[in-house]
Amino acid sequence: MQPNCAHLHSIQGSGEDSSSSPRLSGEGSCHPSTGDVRIQLSSSAGEPRENATSRASRPGSQSRSHGQAPGEAGGLEDAAPDAEEQGGSSLSELRYLLQWLHRSLPYLLILCVKLIAQHVTGISLGIGLLTTYAYANKSIVNQVFLRERCSRLQCTWLLLYLSGSSLLLYYTFHSQSLYHSLIFLSPTVDFMNFWEVLWIVGVTDFILKFLFMGLKCLILLVPSFIMSFKSKGYWYMLLEELCQNYRMFVPIPVWFRYLIAYGELDTALGWTLGILLGLLYLILKLLSFFGQWRNFRQVLRIFFTRPHYGVPASKRQCSESDDICSICQAEFQKPILLICQHVFCEECISLWFNREKTCPLCRTVISDHVNKWKDGATSMHLQIF
Ligand SMILES: [Zn+2]
Ligand SMILES: [Zn+2]
Repeated sequence: MQPNCAHLHSIQGSGEDSSSSPRLSGEGSCHPSTGDVRIQLSSSAGEPRENATSRASRPGSQSRSHGQAPGEAGGLEDAAPDAEEQGGSSLSELRYLLQWLHRSLPYLLILCVKLIAQHVTGISLGIGLLTTYAYANKSIVNQVFLRERCSRLQCTWLLLYLSGSSLLLYYTFHSQSLYHSLIFLSPTVDFMNFWEVLWIVGVTDFILKFLFMGLKCLILLVPSFIMSFKSKGYWYMLLEELCQNYRMFVPIPVWFRYLIAYGELDTALGWTLGILLGLLYLILKLLSFFGQWRNFRQVLRIFFTRPHYGVPASKRQCSESDDICSICQAEFQKPILLICQHVFCEECISLWFNREKTCPLCRTVISDHVNKWKDGATSMHLQIF
């Protein structure tokens, strides 16, 4: 019974491919009770008419069943149409989604324009804050790189620019007392409005960045006989780590108030849900704090111990390296011998360890921590949550 059925299948399948005649009724009446026929029926019913690829693959899979054992052939026929059906249905869903998007695009555009018009102040201020940050960050990194040749005028201008824009922003929105959130107090805004909460968190994050950038400018202005450039690098690193850790804590009271729906919900269910969400948020924050804490401890250790990467190299060790630094390709300035016996200028190798942990020549691990922020840069990361 079974082999006959499989054979009949393949004949009918190939016949359908050439003539595209309906075959549902023929197969259904032949063996309505066998599993093979039923699956074949459902696949041919679900098959999209315009799906040329599934049609093309069908004769191949069915012709294989000719020389195989009946059970094996049945298994193959079961699997192949299922996969085709799944692929076909997900494709048609995707096509439907694209069609929906295509039809709704004009309406979505109208809504977008309306939304932008409603929040035009917030959006333009956001762009302003972002460009201020990008400009100040780039200028500070440039000034740190210039070392002795850094322009005091430029540093003073940056300091005034950053403090001026922060004060102007707080003065413009003084009715909201946005500065309260800098010190974990509650600003006078509607805590039920998601956009207002996002606005406070975003503005506070940028202002904190500006504050720490201003401190970096102050360090840049300190004369080099009071604080060496090497020491300034450690200060930039410490300030940046402090800034990132502080910024992580600042949004906590704002989001917590928003999540527990401060003073708005009076039902027991509302309070329970609010407190549950607030607690979940606090737990997540605590976990991310522990992730950062290890890094911060390492930075503190580096700041206070100021580790040396090697020892001053002797004349003989320098001449063994042909008296040429492999990084700057010039004569050694204050040569330093690493544990891997490679010699570099002190300045060249300390700049290298701001980005890497290993010796540039032999890849021996020299440092256990990348001194990422010693170049005066400020993280671009926006601490929203
Ligand atoms: Zn060098
Ligand atoms: Zn080396």
